[in-house]
Order: sequence, then C-alpha cells, then structure tokens
Amino acid sequence: MISLDSPIATVLGDHPAKRKKITEGLGLRTVGDLLHHFPRRYVKTGELTKVAELEQGQMLTVIGEIVRCEIKSHTDRRTGRVAYRVETVLSTDGPSLRMTFFAKHKHTAEWRARTLAVGRRGLFLGQVSSFQSSWQLTNPKMVLFGAGEEGDPEGEASWIKDVGEYYPIYPLTKGVESWDLQRAITFARAVLDDLPELIPDPLRDAYGLLDARTAFDWIHAPTEHDQVSAAQRRFRFEEALVTQLVLARRRQELRLLGAQARKGDQGDLLAAFDSRLPFELTRGQREIGAEIEQDLAQPHPMNRLLQGEVGSGKTVVALRAMLRTVDSGGQAALLAPTEVLAQQHHRSITAMLGELAAGGMLGGAEGGTTVALLTGSMTKAQRTEPMLRIATGEAGIVIGTHALLEERVSFADLGLVVVDEQHRFGVEQRAALTDKAGSPPHVLVMTATPIPRTVAMTVFGDLETSTLTELPAGRAPIQTNVVPLAEHGSWIDRVWARIREEVEKGHQAYVVCPRITGDEPEQGETDQVDLDDEGNPVEAPVALSAVEEVAVELAEGPLAGLRVAKLHGRMPADDKERTMRAFAAGEIDVLVSTTVIEVGVDVANATAMVLLDAERFGVSQLHQLRGRVGRGGHPGLCLLVTRAAWLSPSRERLDAVAATTDGFELSRVDLEQRREGDVLGKSQSGFRSSLQTLRVLRDEQTIVEARAAAATLLERDATLAASPQLAAAVEEMERSRHSEFMEKS
Ligand code: ADP
Ligand code: MG
Repeated sequence: MISLDSPIATVLGDHPAKRKKITEGLGLRTVGDLLHHFPRRYVKTGELTKVAELEQGQMLTVIGEIVRCEIKSHTDRRTGRVAYRVETVLSTDGPSLRMTFFAKHKHTAEWRARTLAVGRRGLFLGQVSSFQSSWQLTNPKMVLFGAGEEGDPEGEASWIKDVGEYYPIYPLTKGVESWDLQRAITFARAVLDDLPELIPDPLRDAYGLLDARTAFDWIHAPTEHDQVSAAQRRFRFEEALVTQLVLARRRQELRLLGAQARKGDQGDLLAAFDSRLPFELTRGQREIGAEIEQDLAQPHPMNRLLQGEVGSGKTVVALRAMLRTVDSGGQAALLAPTEVLAQQHHRSITAMLGELAAGGMLGGAEGGTTVALLTGSMTKAQRTEPMLRIATGEAGIVIGTHALLEERVSFADLGLVVVDEQHRFGVEQRAALTDKAGSPPHVLVMTATPIPRTVAMTVFGDLETSTLTELPAGRAPIQTNVVPLAEHGSWIDRVWARIREEVEKGHQAYVVCPRITGDEPEQGETDQVDLDDEGNPVEAPVALSAVEEVAVELAEGPLAGLRVAKLHGRMPADDKERTMRAFAAGEIDVLVSTTVIEVGVDVANATAMVLLDAERFGVSQLHQLRGRVGRGGHPGLCLLVTRAAWLSPSRERLDAVAATTDGFELSRVDLEQRREGDVLGKSQSGFRSSLQTLRVLRDEQTIVEARAAAATLLERDATLAASPQLAAAVEEMERSRHSEFMEKS
C-alpha cells in the first residue's frame, strides 16, 4: 500500500537519473514530500493566445515547436564583454515567433540551446514585442513537453488529456521539468487511498478549512481559481498551527522550569553607574529600564525583545539590566554576533563602567565587578584567565561571541543573557545558553531590525517587546542616495570626489565591498549552470568589488594621498583590532571593508559610507550598515553604488532603502518575500516542503488564528493525545529544529 511515507520512487517512472534529480535536486524523498511540492503558478490553458491577433506588449501563452535554434554572440555595451544569446524560432498554429534568450556566459547559452533543441515542443509564456517585422518573446517562461525522453511517445497526448483548466507550474531544479512532476503527482493522487488528516475536525469547521484530500486535489489540479486559494489557506493554516504548537509547548516548558528572581538587593552598582552617566537617559530608556527590572524580579524567565534604531541607546539599557543582575548576586552575559563587535562592546562597556569595572583591583570602586571577554579567536592560553573568572563569579559581566556557547565555559551563576542583534542568533542558540545556567536565565534580545509583531510572535513565542522610539540628542539624519552605474557609469567619479570632500572636512569614511578578494570563485564562473526554482539560469554579475582590490585601486587612484586601510574577516585578529583602533583614533581616513563593520562599530567622526555592488546586501543589512555613519552629530551620507538595472527588483530594494530610514517599514520590505521558515532559521533539509508556504506578512491573519487555535487545543489536550497525526508533525518539527542547531554549532 502506498502512503505519504512511501519512498518517492514508488510513484516515479523508471528513469533512475531523473529520480535522482528529483530526490536530490528538489529534496523530495517521500510521496508526502512530492504532494507537498506545490505549484508556483498556474497557466490558464483555456486561454491560449491566437498568434494571428497579437498586439505589442501583450502577454502571450502559446504552444509550439522549436524549428530553429542558434547561439549568437555580441558585445555587451555596458560591460564591454562578450555576451551570448540563443535565438530560436517557434512554429505555432499561427505565424511563427522568434524567441531570444540572453546569457552572460557561453556555457549558459550552450545549456539553453541543448534544452531548446529543434523538434522540442512546449508551452511558452511571455510578453510579446515586435522585432524586424516579426513577433518576438525575450526570455519567456516555458513548460517543455515530454522532456525529450525515449519511450514516451504518447507524452504530449497524455499531457493534453491530464491538463485541466489550469496547468500547474512547479518549482523546478536542473534536469527536472514541470511536466515530470505533474505526471508523478497525478499518479500519486490516484493511488493514495488513505490521506491522514492533521487538522482536527472541530478546528476545520471553526475556521472553514478544506479536508486534506480535497486540498491536495485542488492545489494540484484546480478547475477554478478559487480552489487554489481555498487549498492554500488550508495548508498555510496547517503549517502555522504546527509552528504555533511547537512554540506553545516551548513556552509551557519554560514556565514550568521557573527562574531565579533578581531583585537587585545585593549591591549598588546600578545606582553608582547612573550617577556616573555623562548624559540623561531618554524617557524610553527609563521606562524600558523599569519594565526590565520588574521582569527580572519575577520567578519566571524574562523573555524580552528590545528594538530600536541603530544609535537609539539600546546598549545602555542592556548594560543597566546587566548591572541590576550583578546587584542581585548573579552574572550577566552579552552575546555578540561578531568578534569585532564583541571587542567593541568590551571596550565601550569597560570605558562606561570606569572604576566600577575594576572590582577587587587597586583603584577599583568598592563593590565593583569585572568584565571578561571571551571570543573564538582567543588561544587556549588566552582563554584560561577569563574562563576562570567566569567560573568563580568574579566576572560579573561577560562579553563574547559563540565561544560562550561552548560546553567548557561554565558560569558561577548566570542570571541574565543579553543577545545583541538577534537576527544572527537562532532560537536554539538561546536554548544552549539557557542550559548553562542551572535554572533558565532571563533573556533580553536587542535588535536594530525592528520585527513586526507576528514575526516576533512566530520567532520568539511569548516574547515581550519594548521599543526605543526616540534617538538620543545629537543624532543627525543620514542622507542615502542610489548611484546607478547601469545608466550613469561616470557617477562613480563623483562618489570618490564626495569622499575626498568629507575627508578634507576632517571626517572619515567607510567603503564596503561584498567580497574579500577578486579570485573567489563566483557562481557562473564554473561550467555549472545554476537554475532558479522555475528552471531559469541564474547568472552572477561579473566581477564583484573586493576589499583587497578596491583598497589598492582607491589608494593609487581616486583617493591617492588619503590614508586608506582595509578590514575583513580573513585578517588576523590582531590586525583587525589594530585597524579598528587606528580608525577610531582618526589615523585612517577611509576604511575599505566587508560587512565586518555591520553591527555596532561606533566611530563618531565617520560621516560617509559607500556601498559597492549594494544590491548584493539585504535590506536590513544595508540599514544596519548605514547606521555606522552620522553618529557624532554630523549629518551622515550613504551612497548605494549599483550596477543593477533600472526597474529590476534589486534596484527597487535599494530605492526603498534610500527612501526611508524607518526601520519598521524597511523590515516589511525585507520580509515581504521571506517565508516563515526562513525567519525561523530553518535549513532546507529537515523540514517538509509543506512547512515553507507561510509568508510572515501575507499570512499574519492566519498566524494569529493558528496561534489561538493552538492555545485552545493544548488547553483541552496538553499532549495532543487525541490528534496523533498532529502530535507527530509537531514532534517532527521540534526534532528538525533541534538537529539543525546541532549541525550549526
Ligand atoms: P544602540 O546600541 O542602540 O545602537 P548605543 O547604546 O550604542 O545605541 O548608543 C549610541 C550612542 O549614544 C552611544 O555613544 C551612547 O553612549 C549614546 N547614548 C545612549 N543613550 C544616550 C542618551 N540618553 N543621551 C545621549 N547619548 C546617549
Ligand atoms: Mg549597539
């Protein structure tokens, strides 16, 4: 009997190579995986276009046969390099069409020509334009029939027969075509007699959700468009429900464990610190500080997210919480995402604390504590001393990177964990630190990437959020401009002229590149053709900017005479440290670096930042990066240099970053395309593909509903005994998250 757990081979034809591509390329191993591989889009086959009646710019869906296929080359005017195009002629039931496919690399063009060999038939979709008095499609989408396999003579005939009103277009991988998947899925749906129902009937009734069988039928072979949305709603709800059950269970477990209340009644460090502060706390800092003190005094773990723009003063808030913990006889750990940032936190916190951080030492304040630093690049010998001070409790404040998660590090009494820049840390890493304290520590997560409520809810379960909305006095606005080299190649000269001006005014600048050296292999430089999940080749842009090269070019060319230095993750820790210090001391004018400066690096005199190949960075990353400038009361300037084409999605993202400094708005732009699974930090493996259909923003409502449903379910049936299928899915997700973390750490 075939079930969802049967190996996928049971429903695939007898083509070992194809089977391998489906299992390995798409990660589909069971029949269930296959059925959960949902179409990306549908083509309304009832509406094939009549080629005889075309108009310029019209969207076209047409069936035809390739009757000519040639590779041509030309010189790309923009890059001056040789580029390729595959020109084909498609014969249809009306006039023939030209179809042209552009490629940057020869092997991509060759791959394309092989795929579109003469005689190949398929369904093609695209926008039509006129070209030398015939119609042309440029880079159309397609579904090729029969895959050119031997022994499949009736291929197209059966396609025509199986095709309903809507033809499904599946996410693909190399060597697998929508056609192959559609056949296997149709077969699987026919032979499966028993489909498990994950969602209990009362829940399905309450939320008006389809049963599993109908949902699978409608998502793979709809006869009208509404069926697709109804099926999607069911699957999204299912995914959200499982996630929320996992989170709800985790919250329950946490609450049951309890935590030590930290009431701040064993010391006066915090008061001493407040009286040393050279500035007044903002109202937000005071209010959030009070909330945190209240949380810390509870016998349950605090679980709080502290959001605020870069420079809004989160670190001060966190430091005050840490001091409160030390005042309660406990230790506090600050976990930073990078080595550079950990060192910087160590420097600035030690400086802010002054004599308060010299506990037990000559000149130290009475009742002071010490601050320990522990990072991955420290040698074993260098670690011995801080580890000892951590273990004895002498170090009240511990700052570090992932090294802190290592098993050998033990704390005397870890009471509070502060996680800086949450987006680099997974839920499970928090769990590992939790394991280090006898009872769960209180947790404060800081982020400069604001997270919409549902995301916070999804990622952190019951996290309380606090938001710092005002910037401390003296913060100046940052002006961001896109420099579009695609249209205005010469503007790069103005960029460097502008940097020179800043330096002449006595300021400093960052230049950020996506790569360290130019000889790292890029996608597309090998003979491999990388395909996106609709089967189109993805080509890397030519020659991305690299720190090592750009630093030399600038120092010898446009920025000659200025003090230019470089910084990247592959330099020895000492060099990095020295360079950062020299930059902070104003001994370097222009720092060419990778994103190692992304978080927290704080040089008040740096007023300008140039991001090269800016489209290579994510929205929140760009936002973080530009937060490095304009910190010292001088207006900041951020130039996003890009070769991305006008109107391309990359350019639109950059325009969005340039248009606003509102972190919440940007985080929506950033999250729009992301799936819940991505936000949760899942890996490709482990999760069934069904668990990737949720989009955190689009599906806010579903997530909220599922959260309520999960709570209700658990209230009535804490172990999900009455819903064994659902319980199994929840366990599977818990397991896969756990194993993903084990692999990472
Ligand atoms: P964030 O961690 O949110 O990026 P920081 O806590 O590092 O921000 O603060 C940025 C800068 O502003 C630091 O130099 C800090 O000392 C200063 N700062 C923090 N709070 C205030 C305040 N209330 N008034 C003036 N300056 C402040
Ligand atoms: Mg900070």
